[in-house]
Amino acid sequence: MEIKQDFVELKMKESATIFDIEKIRKDFPILHQNINGKPLVYLDNAASTQKPMSVINAISAYYMTINANIHRGIHTLSEKATTEYELTRATIRSFVNAKHTEEVIFTKGTTEAINLVAATYGRQNVKKGDEIIISALEHHSNMVPWQMLAGETGALLKIIPINDAGELIIEDYKKLLNKKTKLVSVAHASNTLGTINPIKEIIGLAHEHGAKVLIDGAQAAAHLIVDVQDFDADFYAFSSHKIYGPTGVGVLYGKKELLEAMPPYQGGGEMIKEVTYEGFTYNDLPYKFEAGTPNIADTIALKTAIDYINYWGKEAIRNYEHEILAYATRKLSAIKGLRIIGEAKEKVGIISFVLNGIHHQDAGIILDHEGIAVRTGHHCTQPLMGRYKISGTSRASFALYNTKEEVDILVDGINKVMRMFA
Ligand code: PMP
Repeated sequence: MEIKQDFVELKMKESATIFDIEKIRKDFPILHQNINGKPLVYLDNAASTQKPMSVINAISAYYMTINANIHRGIHTLSEKATTEYELTRATIRSFVNAKHTEEVIFTKGTTEAINLVAATYGRQNVKKGDEIIISALEHHSNMVPWQMLAGETGALLKIIPINDAGELIIEDYKKLLNKKTKLVSVAHASNTLGTINPIKEIIGLAHEHGAKVLIDGAQAAAHLIVDVQDFDADFYAFSSHKIYGPTGVGVLYGKKELLEAMPPYQGGGEMIKEVTYEGFTYNDLPYKFEAGTPNIADTIALKTAIDYINYWGKEAIRNYEHEILAYATRKLSAIKGLRIIGEAKEKVGIISFVLNGIHHQDAGIILDHEGIAVRTGHHCTQPLMGRYKISGTSRASFALYNTKEEVDILVDGINKVMRMFA
């Protein structure tokens, strides 16, 4: 087997002059197939995005040319692998506009990043009687770690309520804050409703009370400009697989002074400076939080995914996806018996909906027969489903390769579901 591209070729440094949707679609090989005899319409991007060929090639290229363990070797392959791995870290620093490269910690994903903060910063700083604030629209990954921490420490977990449109009620949030608040953890964007939260305001208000803030950026990183310094976020978490990169890699950004003061998360190789039979001293940032051999290939390929996003440009992607969302919202709203769940003024490209008298799972199965991939269920936001008094929704979520024609196919599919259950 031969692999033509090397790492130099894989680096997309320049940026596109126009948003070329035909070219973009060609970059994603998986899109060009039939599912159940129909062309695939992939609208499950909030769960995981597809990968461009450059990312797929980057994974192969790593294994075919420079596979070796990183950081510990002095041989050439190990040095090359280390260089590429650390290049991803540097790329992420600029992707989120962190001040220092060592503020970027690699994890398995958003879930692990949040658990890391709960288990280290949380256990170190949250005591009995303290308070943690999350919101009503959080993913279970940004709820359960805090419930665990509250259970362990005797802290109180408070919930920012939402209005019917799915927007956080900021006046109520202000009332929840007080000097006992140690941590606030909210999503940048909701995976179920699409709501974009006013995180800068949320962070500012928390800081007035001396609380630290974690932003769950899982649904934002591919779609919105992330500037952790501008937000003044203390922690920001996201997953590679939702931003066109491979699964099994995620990022925790943390302010240097906070990360430095936190204890390590897991013990093992890489995170230590010196070990004796009596004990250990731990390594400097970021390695203190990266015990064991990491997911090297996929971390390296994550850089290629970010290069891909940067090539098309976050602003162009946002504008394009916004157009698709507006078109889809208009089209779906016109379907009799369809109710959109989540009508915030500011949304990413996510539309959850319920169909009168039709179970979301039945709708999902019929849509799948039409080649349309949507997600159905509670989307890991069970309490939010309770808030709307529903058991689940169907959810269409858009990425930079989706088109208005695909929205039309979705609309036809939903109409078919409606006719079948009429
Ligand atoms: N938070 C939000 C808002 C999400 O949408 C998801 C993934 N659905 C997560 C956290 C968890 O991400 P991961 O499974 O990649 O750790």
